[in-house]
Amino acid sequence: MTQVSDHGGGVRSIRVPIPDNPLGHTLVYVVDTDRGPVLIDTGWDDPASWDTLTEGLTMCGTSPDEIHGVVITHHHPDHHGLSGRVRETSGAWIAMHAADTAIVRRTRETQPGHWFAYMTAKLTAAGAPEEHVAPLRSARPRTLPGLCPSLPDREIVPGELLDLPGRRLRAIWTPGHTPGHVCLHLEEQHPAHLPGHGRLFSGDHLLPGITPHIGLYEDPDDDGGAPTRAKPSVGEVTDPLGDYLDSLERVGRLAPAEVLPAHQHAFADAPSRVRELLTHHEERLTGLLNLLTAPLTPWQLAERMEWNRAWEQIPYGSRNIAVSEAEAHLRRLVKLGRAEAVPGSEPVAYVAV
Ligand SMILES: [Zn+2]
Ligand SMILES: [Zn+2]
Repeated sequence: MTQVSDHGGGVRSIRVPIPDNPLGHTLVYVVDTDRGPVLIDTGWDDPASWDTLTEGLTMCGTSPDEIHGVVITHHHPDHHGLSGRVRETSGAWIAMHAADTAIVRRTRETQPGHWFAYMTAKLTAAGAPEEHVAPLRSARPRTLPGLCPSLPDREIVPGELLDLPGRRLRAIWTPGHTPGHVCLHLEEQHPAHLPGHGRLFSGDHLLPGITPHIGLYEDPDDDGGAPTRAKPSVGEVTDPLGDYLDSLERVGRLAPAEVLPAHQHAFADAPSRVRELLTHHEERLTGLLNLLTAPLTPWQLAERMEWNRAWEQIPYGSRNIAVSEAEAHLRRLVKLGRAEAVPGSEPVAYVAV
């Protein structure tokens, strides 16, 4: 089985497996530079994934100790998991957007107990039933998976070229899936002269056959209140779905000749994929407004939303993700003035206006 694909013009990808995950693989890109290969994402921190990455690099005519730098699209463990190991082996730098680096720093500092308390408060505020929240209260965690991600040592600055000698790779900030997600625009002619502007490493932002998860940005330090409170106590209310839709339009306007995503496969015609996704989200928001003719908590909304299977069949952890996604949609509808919190409701319920 080939794990390596040659995309031409000094760009290859390695299919690095994600253990026990329906996504299957992360596509780790190897970009040749005048100072040695640079990786875009690294894959899940697992011995088998590391072996695949190593074998793939050998097939590319290089090895982990020759890596010059690591550019991370976002902090998720299927992208950033092996970065630390690559840096230990090669002395490579690791670059990430500041907003995701802040999450990495927080994750490293957060005690598991604090995280469970945060999740308990968050789910209770979203209207989760007691039988769902109870296991979190009694959990006596020692460690959490991915609790000690590597701290990046370089910052990806939106709009700027990355330090890749001999290449033009520009950072495009695309918040939504995470607050610091970036796409990387390779501003060079397409090796097969496909029409359009260069190539775009799109991370999880733009994928050919799946829509990325958009939930509320997690912040266990935000003790000021549950994310669903009508009036937040601190700072500005984030709107991840709004961020995501703006970011989609931004990469659509770039009109890259080819998109090199972090999962699935490379594809052309980014603008039409962007339009599909924008339409999908517009339809989904309209569908939710139809559900919100009667007041619903985020949990109740999640139960009624369309998922890839019946709510009863959705496993525990995925329900938490589903509720977060429902909350992100409610946030968007409230921002658009199309839904509002019902005054005095506890947990807060929302209704279409
Ligand atoms: Zn992700
Ligand atoms: Zn991913």
